[in-house]
Amino acid sequence: MIKLGLDIGSRNTKLVIFDSSHQSIMHYAWLSTDISARSSALSLVEQALSTCQISQQEISATGVTGYGRKLMQDMGHTFSEISCHAVGCHYIFPGVRTVIDIGGQDSKLITLGESGKVADFAMNDKCAAGTGRFLEMTALRLGCEVSQLSALAAEADQVLQLNSTCVVFAESEIINMMASSTHASNIARAVHQSIVQRIQTQMAALAWQAPVVFTGGVAQNSDLALCLGKALGHSLLIPPEPEITGALGAAILAK
Ligand code: ADP
Repeated sequence: MIKLGLDIGSRNTKLVIFDSSHQSIMHYAWLSTDISARSSALSLVEQALSTCQISQQEISATGVTGYGRKLMQDMGHTFSEISCHAVGCHYIFPGVRTVIDIGGQDSKLITLGESGKVADFAMNDKCAAGTGRFLEMTALRLGCEVSQLSALAAEADQVLQLNSTCVVFAESEIINMMASSTHASNIARAVHQSIVQRIQTQMAALAWQAPVVFTGGVAQNSDLALCLGKALGHSLLIPPEPEITGALGAAILAK
């Protein structure tokens, strides 16, 4: 049975084609979420079917998740992001007990029981601090790509603290740091540490335990993953493609 999972996120739309007979991922892809999230998703599906050389009729079930999932209700069943990230991470790391998902505009912390069932969760979708949005603003200010922040921060030789818990005020702090010739590496590291503190505060509300999986687009930032692991006292497990765990979970859950 071939199943399709879609995760329509605020920044990126992700797709996974899953062969449930062999319990294996046949194909995955993602693209930046267009002004029309529905058209991004439809074009991703079209490309995937053509790459895998399968027809729409061969897809036995479709699961949709993500912030834009209501736009695609006609494609299949919709599932919460919490369920999908939990299932996707449990498929990749069967022993996982805690999932930290940081995306473009929210962060989610999920605890799982021994069987992989969701036990509890906490979510921040109200404030950009502690999300990928903070990294995007930082990259824009420092004149680099989001994907370059990790290497930049790894060169840090000073411990700096951002005092603002709000991204708008943190941006002013960054501008002041740049005006006083603070090296970009130290600014990037300070932003990573600020996100780490935010996640740590959120985690205090949960009875979490290791192993901890770090997923979502932000998990591609290895300096942030290292800082977060150090703060939590556990090294973090990172899926080979952290962007797609939500879409993978949606495909697995689709019936
Ligand atoms: P959403 O589900 O909200 O669309 P994603 O899980 O796709 O979000 O994550 C998007 C975020 O991932 C971006 O805001 C950005 O901060 C971060 N990101 C994307 N690509 C990279 C990369 N190559 N390295 C580090 N961070 C990245």
